[in-house]
Amino acid sequence: MRTPIPDYLTEIQDSLRDDDQGAVADYIPALAEADPDLFAIALTTVAGRTYTAGDCDVEFSIQSMSKPFAYAAALTDRGEEFVGGRVGVEPSGEAFNELSLESDSHRPKNPMINAGAITTHQLLVGSGAKPAERVERALDLFSALAGRRLAIDEAVRDSELETADRNLAIAHMLRNYGILEDDPHEVVAGYTAQCSIRVSVRDIAVMAATLASGGIQPVTGEQVLDRATARKTLSVMASAGMYDAAGSWFNDVGIPAKSGVAGGLLGALPGQVGIGSFSPRLDAHGNSVRGIEVFRRLSTDMGLHLMDTESFGSHALRDIRVDADTTYLSLQGIIDFNGAEVVLHRLDEAPPETPTVIVDASRVERFSDVGRRMVIEGMRRLSLDGITVGLADPEERLPDPGLGDGTMPFIVPAQRTES
Ligand code: GLU
Repeated sequence: MRTPIPDYLTEIQDSLRDDDQGAVADYIPALAEADPDLFAIALTTVAGRTYTAGDCDVEFSIQSMSKPFAYAAALTDRGEEFVGGRVGVEPSGEAFNELSLESDSHRPKNPMINAGAITTHQLLVGSGAKPAERVERALDLFSALAGRRLAIDEAVRDSELETADRNLAIAHMLRNYGILEDDPHEVVAGYTAQCSIRVSVRDIAVMAATLASGGIQPVTGEQVLDRATARKTLSVMASAGMYDAAGSWFNDVGIPAKSGVAGGLLGALPGQVGIGSFSPRLDAHGNSVRGIEVFRRLSTDMGLHLMDTESFGSHALRDIRVDADTTYLSLQGIIDFNGAEVVLHRLDEAPPETPTVIVDASRVERFSDVGRRMVIEGMRRLSLDGITVGLADPEERLPDPGLGDGTMPFIVPAQRTES
């Protein structure tokens, strides 16, 4: 059997091919030369498989899709507190190149608009870093995220620098308010180089999938970003990634995303997929017209809206059985907050009446961190109530089962405890 997923992507593409609304960006002269008919889609799962349709190996400049990853680099290099003191996380509701600064602190409102992204670029590496080191940091991180060595499109960079008056004006204003430390010309040159890194839709789908899988690059298996950084990056993409269209985008499509003026659009759905599209004609907000439709279709047809859920309730407690002086609690599936709550609620509502309780984790797929802590706390409380607590966990799904008071549940040898 041949998987139907590439056919499905091709079908989406075919249905949108004739849509020629919008126009290629022309405020950067080199971008005005792009072939407006190019069109590509890529989807990478958190298991590291990539599916593509169309011009999937054509390279284009990453532009503003660099902003979330540069933000992730700044968080890694300088820490949340330092970065947060200089760039906010509020949607600006204004165009990408507006000078949206908070009135009291003069911080740019978020790292997705140019003012915030120019500031973020200057935060890379550390105070006093050379301009070239900051560009190298972005290039190294983006390459690790893509799983291959990326390069700067020097023609695009030079072309943008020739017409960068607006970004220079923003940078001078930021320096005036003490947000930028370095020479505005150097910072804009570095930021522009960062925006000129060449990628294909395959690259951006894999980069987005890395955010979707908690910072682990799903093809190389490398932990490129830590989990909290991936989460923060996705959060700011969700609230501000689509500029002044961020609210309606999230309402309709519900995928944290970031667009770039060269026509790229990337999105990441936590725990599931990274998606990339490329089509150079842009709408009035600077977002790719056909790219938006690709995401709209994927969100609707594949149920990828972040706020959509089909999971109502949990079946974490598979079975509860009393045999002589022992109560067996058989857990199953994924024990997250919700799953652990079901177990704790049952113990609270109908406390075991036997002197021994055995928690059987042999059918558990995994415990989330909070699920683990909650189940262990439940076991600790049973033990405080004078109950002897045992654990049947042949696959060791429950790491560190110590009850927090120096004692351990007694370990039940590998065997099914169910009847
Ligand atoms: N380098 C572009 C600029 O700063 C990026 C804009 C975008 O992709 O939205 O104007």
